[in-house]
Amino acid sequence: MPKKVSFFNFSIYPIISREQSYLDQARIRLLYYGFFLVFVASGALFLSVYFQGQRLLAYTAGCLMFSVAILFKALTYRPNWSAISHILLVIGTLVNISIVYVSLQSINIVTVQVIIIVIVFSYYMLGQNWGLIYSLLNTVPVLLFLLIEYNNSYVLRIKPDKIDQATIIISLFANFIVLIFIQSHFYNSFLKNTRQLKESRDEQVKLNLELEKAIEKAEKSTRAKSEFLSTMSHEIRTPLNAVIGMSNLLMMGSPRPEQKENLEILKFSANNLLAIVNDVLDFNKIESGKLVFENISFDLLELMTNICGGQILKAREKGLQFGLELDHQLKNKVFFGDPTRITQVIFNLVSNAIKFTSEGNVWVKVTCMEDRHNKVMVKFSVKDTGIGIHQTNLSSIFEPFTQESLATTRQYGGTGLGLAIVKRLLDMQELHLDVASKIGEGSEFSFQMELPVSTVLPLVPKIDKPTEETHEGSLVTLRMLIAEDNMVNVMLMKKLLSRWEIIPVIAENGERAVEFMQYGNFDIILMDLQMPVMNGFDAAREIRKMADPKKATVPIIALTASAMVDIKDQVYDAGMNDYVSKPFKPDELIEKIQSLVALT
Ligand code: ADP
Repeated sequence: MPKKVSFFNFSIYPIISREQSYLDQARIRLLYYGFFLVFVASGALFLSVYFQGQRLLAYTAGCLMFSVAILFKALTYRPNWSAISHILLVIGTLVNISIVYVSLQSINIVTVQVIIIVIVFSYYMLGQNWGLIYSLLNTVPVLLFLLIEYNNSYVLRIKPDKIDQATIIISLFANFIVLIFIQSHFYNSFLKNTRQLKESRDEQVKLNLELEKAIEKAEKSTRAKSEFLSTMSHEIRTPLNAVIGMSNLLMMGSPRPEQKENLEILKFSANNLLAIVNDVLDFNKIESGKLVFENISFDLLELMTNICGGQILKAREKGLQFGLELDHQLKNKVFFGDPTRITQVIFNLVSNAIKFTSEGNVWVKVTCMEDRHNKVMVKFSVKDTGIGIHQTNLSSIFEPFTQESLATTRQYGGTGLGLAIVKRLLDMQELHLDVASKIGEGSEFSFQMELPVSTVLPLVPKIDKPTEETHEGSLVTLRMLIAEDNMVNVMLMKKLLSRWEIIPVIAENGERAVEFMQYGNFDIILMDLQMPVMNGFDAAREIRKMADPKKATVPIIALTASAMVDIKDQVYDAGMNDYVSKPFKPDELIEKIQSLVALT
């Protein structure tokens, strides 16, 4: 829209702007200069018919002049070309009909000219529909008049009896000029439009090329970022594993109370750092779209108990009450889904609930909302009586690296990644996370998930846990091969295994491990996955191909520093029996060794 114009403006420039399309500019220009033309022509007509004593015609010409002057003012004040065109066409139609039926009571060549002008003008100015309406309004009455006046000897007169030759010449001349004027204007705008279209198409092609380049660049840098993050995280995880493993070992060696306290701080900090690195890795994986959801069977009660097990201790340390409530209907059922991702979501929510609550309780509820036998709708909810979240922050807390305030960062620490991961994991499964929170009263995070039910009844393994002594006693003679390239990790493993009096043989890469297997006999192999020369996957595949069935079926446990879920499948695909993630809990490792060795 052009800028505001003063009421006393008479110029065309303030009412035309580059933002208007070429067609609209042509419409305004046509009206502006057209009014001049019509004003001059109707003025000349007025004088001509006035001096001939044609009062009615003079009156019509005068009215036309007056209307044109008013419309010209309206246009230069507010260039609403559509309304002005309507008014102009209505006046033109009335003048046309009044001349035919009242003042001249005949049809002449000027009448035909006027009709053509109306048709052309209405179509160009107002489009097809209005064009048709005004064309019919002007042609139908004139044709009707012809029918009424039908007398077998009709000729279209050039000049009616009532007016002189000068008047008819002025009218004919003016009408032709108006017609040419309209045509030339719109043809010009048509040409400009075509040129503009071509230019914008060229521009678009150029823009598309630039866009493609920009996308390629962005993709490249995202890939580089993601690779950098993975490498960095891996590099940080490796020494961190050693720190955690060493502190585990030192803790097992009955330290003095003050040493124990220091060790606990060391272990706590290392674990915290590891959790942050894992969060960054996970978030990076989700963002790069590499995350695939599993669909495996699991026991919901067992899963929830495992998730909450570690958290109960944390809650107790803070003096909080912790409750886990699982609907009766959900027990004794096997579900299909991705337990790892459910764990990740619930774990983050429960960790936050404990972190942001200083007194009261934290409640985890798993409710069955709908049971359709082969599918159940389950509602997971984590409720606390903590500090609560301000209403205005309820959406920003899901942004990555965002916490409620700087005070939160100072007081509670954290990276602000937890909820971003939770939200994205749920979004990817088209699930919605509800948050209800009140400052000072607490928060509740909940979501509903449909879980398919397996027809297989849950197996309750009734394995009698062997006692520590039998554990250790049976492992003394174990012949163990460890394939590991990192010397700190080797040292750590040796120290750890010495507790069970296991003396492992160390292979510094996969190829060496295969050689050791060819020439020696081992009961179990602990296989690192990322090693120089030959990695753990290839080494495992080589061993599985060995001719000696005892060697080909030796139990292999993968040692993985990767937090990624899909590593699990790769481990099994390579023929390995199980895996432990570094930093492994000593008990977990020994339990796995024990159960695999017992099977052989
Ligand atoms: P982090 O826990 O590392 O700060 P999150 O993404 O998990 O990051 O949470 C983002 C922010 O949301 C937190 O910093 C905190 O301000 C707010 N928040 C999350 N859960 C709760 C809760 N249960 N009670 C109060 N505030 C919470």
